[in-house]
Amino acid sequence: MKNVGVVGGGLMGSGIAEVSARAGQDVVVVESSDDAAKAALGRLEKSLQRAESKGKIDSADAVLARIQVVTDLDALADREVVVEAIVEDETAKVELFKRLDTVVSAPDAILASNTSSIPIMKLGVVTSRPTQVIGIHFFNPVPVLQLVELVPSLLTSADTTARSRAWVQDGLGKQAIDCQDRAGFVVNSLLIPFILSAIRMYESGFASAEDIDRGLVLGAAHPQGPLALADLIGLDTTKAVAESLYEEFKEPLYAAPPLLQRMVDAGLLGRKTGRGFYTYG
Ligand code: NAD
Repeated sequence: MKNVGVVGGGLMGSGIAEVSARAGQDVVVVESSDDAAKAALGRLEKSLQRAESKGKIDSADAVLARIQVVTDLDALADREVVVEAIVEDETAKVELFKRLDTVVSAPDAILASNTSSIPIMKLGVVTSRPTQVIGIHFFNPVPVLQLVELVPSLLTSADTTARSRAWVQDGLGKQAIDCQDRAGFVVNSLLIPFILSAIRMYESGFASAEDIDRGLVLGAAHPQGPLALADLIGLDTTKAVAESLYEEFKEPLYAAPPLLQRMVDAGLLGRKTGRGFYTYG
């Protein structure tokens, strides 16, 4: 698959567009407004210039030339694979998959979601082709982290899973693991309760954010602590994933602590807004 579509050019969508274009693929990114499209292009330029200055790519301009950022979903008509990476909101994603089903015309196109927690089945069944709908879950930062979780629903065909695997592994050079369509998949089912425990520990005054993070970095060889990681993921995304896990399993370990909820209400979303558990920029 050489023609890629990405819907949503935020943190993840711009990363997925970048790795696809760096792998020589032709990429169309659809954003929701002109301002959002401009921001997406800015993210791509900044990241590619950084990659060029570190010698990881020859030319940022050459990669950028393979990416178009637009606001019209119809631009996805000829795409062989479309990865949805809009906000983690089930209603918004369901609406989008209904529209993708009418817009994407290639009969065997794969309609993928990068959702962290919404059941793939809910997105598949609103299309006329649930056998071609699959979760392709990348990790942040996409250009750096190797893992992709492949999440077929009960209705996804073996052919869709096999072609998705070939695309991420042979096309993009990532490594895939397989998991079933239940909230959180493998990594977030383990990671989110860990981050929530760190937030509860900080909230209770048991230790400072710095000491919690230093503890895990120096004592458990984590590359960064859980609160710095929450800031990187985005506290809104962290909360949304926790809520999906809680809704699915009703286990207290998945319940978002009050501090996380208040920080999200306050717009303290981590790195992307300049402040979360730490202050940036
Ligand atoms: P983000 O808020 O950075 O980006 C979302 C983008 O989608 C925004 O730029 C927004 O303008 C755009 N958008 C919203 N509605 C749209 C629409 N209808 N059409 C086109 N564009 C639209 O969010 P993100 O962190 O990039 O997360 C995107 C998805 O990836 C979510 O489903 C999230 O759960 C998942 N995910 C996030 C991470 C992470 O670490 N942040 C990791 C893996 C997966």
